[in-house]
Amino acid sequence: MKPRDRLRIAMQKSGRLTEPALDLLNRCGLTFRQSRDKLFCFGEGEPVDLLLVRDDDIPGLIAQGVCDLGIVGRNVLSEFRGTAGESNGNAALTEWRKLGFGRCRLSIAVPQEMDYNAPQDLHGRRIATSYPGLLGEWLRTQGVDATVITLAGSVEIAPKLGTADAICDLVQSGGTLVANQLRETDVLLQSEAVLAGPEALPSDERGDMIELLLKRLDGVIQVRESRLLLLQTSRTSLDAVTRLLPGGPQPTLLPVAGQPDQLMLQALCAGEVSWRQLEEIKKAGAREMFVLPVEKMLA
Ligand code: ATP
Ligand code: MG
Repeated sequence: MKPRDRLRIAMQKSGRLTEPALDLLNRCGLTFRQSRDKLFCFGEGEPVDLLLVRDDDIPGLIAQGVCDLGIVGRNVLSEFRGTAGESNGNAALTEWRKLGFGRCRLSIAVPQEMDYNAPQDLHGRRIATSYPGLLGEWLRTQGVDATVITLAGSVEIAPKLGTADAICDLVQSGGTLVANQLRETDVLLQSEAVLAGPEALPSDERGDMIELLLKRLDGVIQVRESRLLLLQTSRTSLDAVTRLLPGGPQPTLLPVAGQPDQLMLQALCAGEVSWRQLEEIKKAGAREMFVLPVEKMLA
């Protein structure tokens, strides 16, 4: 393969992961010339381009070296690693980062009226799925001998059509299962979108660019979950207030002009700060409280 000096990231062309993936890359300072109808988007600022493809193709494109990184569901990545995998000179793939969107799970579901207590009840049954690799592996570990029927889509209607006795499919809210009179019985895999890439990063400028991108990603992911808490407290209440602060690094204390017994406290909190927590902190002696979202952070 011809060496490239620009980084290439594969992402889903159109689907559940498209908007959040693009938003995440934008937050990392990457912008692309809009050509959503096409396969390729040229990166404007940094030397990073996008390849817009079906999500199923992403692991293969990385493994073959056509792309350096990809944003894809763990479900798709794990299925690839378990099946097509790392043979035929394909690079071994890994999850470089968990991205916190596209959360779902791969589960077994059976018709509501089916008598099901344990995986062993699937013995001799037909199970429809788009994830034959993951299902096959799970059946093996459970010691269950069942027939795996591979379908590209509409797996949830297979029991109604009589082509399968159970299914193994992605579930988010469970609404689709209920609509098809199915009930979830076992979870095989918890999934979310991940940044996938080869285990060994390229040793040229692309490797440097990947490291830079990973650092920015860490900042963006941390910021997304961070809140800045500002409040005023008297010196005497400081201990009580500090004890109630949600987790995070040590707070910063600032003097308040003209009020020597008062302090301004600033704390970075990892995650939401609830009304309940604020009320407790106020009871301990705090006032003038603000919870602010964090826009950018560079440690
Ligand atoms: P493509 O045309 O790219 O192959 P697709 O139909 O396979 O699209 P989507 O339905 O857009 O893919 O789902 C993309 C990913 O979103 C899934 O692989 C999974 O990781 C995640 N996801 C989250 N919730 C769900 C859900 N309820 N059903 C299916 N996928 C979900
Ligand atoms: Mg797909």
